[in-house]
Amino acid sequence: MIYRQTLYTEIEYLKGVGPKRATVLQKELQIFTLKDLLNHFPFRYVDKTKFYKVKEVRSDSSYIQIKGEIENLREAGSGRSKRLIADLTDNTGSIELVWFKGTKWIINSIKAKKEYLVYGKPSSFRSTINIVHPEIDLLENGKSESESMKFQPVYNSSEKLASKGLSSRGIMKLQKQLFQTVGNQIPEVLPDNISKSFNFITRIEAYKQIHFPENIEILEKAKNRLKFEELFFVQVELCSFKWKKETQNKGVIFSKVGDYFNNFFHNVLPFELTNAQKKVIKELRSDFNSGKQMNRLLQGDVGSGKTIVALMAMFIALDNGFQTCIMAPTEILAKQHFNTISKLVEKLDVKVVLLTGSTKKAERKIIDEKLRSNETQILIGTHALIEDTVKFNNLGFVVIDEQHRFGVAQRAKMWKKSTIPPHILVMTATPIPRTLAMTFYGDLNISVIDEMPPGRKEIITKHYFEKNRLKIIGSIRKIIKQGNQVYIVYPLIEESEKLDYKNLMEGYDLVLREFPRPEYQLGIMHGKMKTEDKDKEMQRFVKGELDILVSTTVIEVGVDVPNATVMVIESAEKFGLSQLHQLRGRVGRGGDQSYCILMTSYKLTNDARTRMKIMTDTNDGFRIAEADLKLRGPGEVTGTKQSGIMNFKIADLATDHKILEVARKIAIKLIEDDPNLSKEKNKSLKNHLKESKKERFSWVEIS
Ligand code: ADP
Ligand code: MG
Repeated sequence: MIYRQTLYTEIEYLKGVGPKRATVLQKELQIFTLKDLLNHFPFRYVDKTKFYKVKEVRSDSSYIQIKGEIENLREAGSGRSKRLIADLTDNTGSIELVWFKGTKWIINSIKAKKEYLVYGKPSSFRSTINIVHPEIDLLENGKSESESMKFQPVYNSSEKLASKGLSSRGIMKLQKQLFQTVGNQIPEVLPDNISKSFNFITRIEAYKQIHFPENIEILEKAKNRLKFEELFFVQVELCSFKWKKETQNKGVIFSKVGDYFNNFFHNVLPFELTNAQKKVIKELRSDFNSGKQMNRLLQGDVGSGKTIVALMAMFIALDNGFQTCIMAPTEILAKQHFNTISKLVEKLDVKVVLLTGSTKKAERKIIDEKLRSNETQILIGTHALIEDTVKFNNLGFVVIDEQHRFGVAQRAKMWKKSTIPPHILVMTATPIPRTLAMTFYGDLNISVIDEMPPGRKEIITKHYFEKNRLKIIGSIRKIIKQGNQVYIVYPLIEESEKLDYKNLMEGYDLVLREFPRPEYQLGIMHGKMKTEDKDKEMQRFVKGELDILVSTTVIEVGVDVPNATVMVIESAEKFGLSQLHQLRGRVGRGGDQSYCILMTSYKLTNDARTRMKIMTDTNDGFRIAEADLKLRGPGEVTGTKQSGIMNFKIADLATDHKILEVARKIAIKLIEDDPNLSKEKNKSLKNHLKESKKERFSWVEIS
């Protein structure tokens, strides 16, 4: 039976695939349909317009192609280093070709005295230059099968795929077949007016050129269009969700600013607000008055003063008779917020209550009652707050601190705690590069505190090796003598809690030897300790009873001890950039000069060296976040790599911010003009979004 194939035809039925290859394509590359294959883009191209001569080859050349004869096939080595070697010879000399795998096929298929086209990446081994696992093409009459191409696409493949004949070149052949079969069915999905205004090449052309580019210029055009599309579709979805939310979810209106706010502002607030803080309070007030439910993300570097801003917004809620709550990711932080806020509202007659996982049952009952009777005005706690049993009388405003620890589902639960969903402010101390924020939190409005309170001294960050340790110990003694305190942090090795604990204990013993009792007071803190014990230890540090706190990363988030001025990070190379920056943010919170000391081993990977350099170069959280994104990619930064959420096919959030900005702007315009995409000109776009929603998760579920 002959039937017309479409983009949705299963990959098995593409000529040249069949059931066995289909299975590996599914498993290895998640290619199920022709459309999936079409969207498996090359990750680079071999420039086939240039041929090298053997004598021009350098061991540091990138991928190159050479014409020559292949001779002197011989085996060498044994065990894992067993390999097949051959000489590639042209009229300028010869270099070695090496295979560790698939040698039988090579031995059987290489023909003597024939010219081959060889490509691969040269490397050097014991000072001779060779090419390991080159691709080879027999030249018939001086021409190879793929020679008509100027740029040959190179696709991601795998050993399993290669064993089924689907190396990069095998995949290339399938792509050619695909274009012959369904190439003309690739639909145009962007509204005409948008394509026109950007002068985009057609969608069919873009796909053709991304796989088989004719020249660099048109390849760039193809990439540009496909990147735009990919980012644009996500933005349309997010903007449409945001629009729906804003039109459907009426928000409570906090119409007045009353005594709580004013009293605090005039009589309690111990310092002048920074301009950035004032700006954010204005943004919040305008949201509170809009009649729509607020969903806002507040970004600000560690120590930029987000808590005061949140608290002042909470006073506005109280002034309008509403309850508020603040949710922190850990018990330590919840308690710290409770202590800070309780102290700040002492003179204001505000009822503040703490609720965490370790709140006793009897106490819990009283808390529940007082919440329901509207007596409690500010509830502070951990994720215990989102449990269904926690019921408010009149919840108007929710603050979520350090968002990255909370999921979206949890945020949604908060919405349901009131008939009209409360306003929500999410605070994060890990600055998120704008591109990530626009996608990952695309349905939130964003506020930024980009200014530090005055009088802070820049933290001085230094990178040291083991040989400097004595000097460092001496400096720390001096600092303790001055009355300041010190953190020493050991890495958390997630694979092995035991090892982790051992590292920490060994470290603790070492520190103890250098800082003996009773001259020095040391504390220790790690994740395996009971919450009460952790709290006790932390409290001793807060009160200044401890000189040094030796700890794992449990102190990472939010802890505020202005008297602590030194942060020593052991095995700093094992930490990611944003974590290092978080840890550094534990010091520099008072008026004294603070220091961050990064201890590493001598052997560092290039990435690790870059991280240390960035840390010593800058204190700017946004710069660090950008660098982190470039080093690790969006999936790692947001912790969603496994889920595939941030895995764009062609767009790159680390480099494509210009395209993203434009895509978002156009998406906003589009939704303002046609919120349900019901206009004729947007029909194909609407269909496309509907189709792709069937195939994957929806962005709005994760943002
Ligand atoms: P973060 O943004 O990390 O949550 P905090 O809100 O904990 O920062 O503030 C850090 C410290 O700075 C706190 O001790 C706070 O009282 C203080 N602070 C906040 N705003 C100002 C300001 N405008 N002037 C001086 N100190 C401030
Ligand atoms: Mg904070």
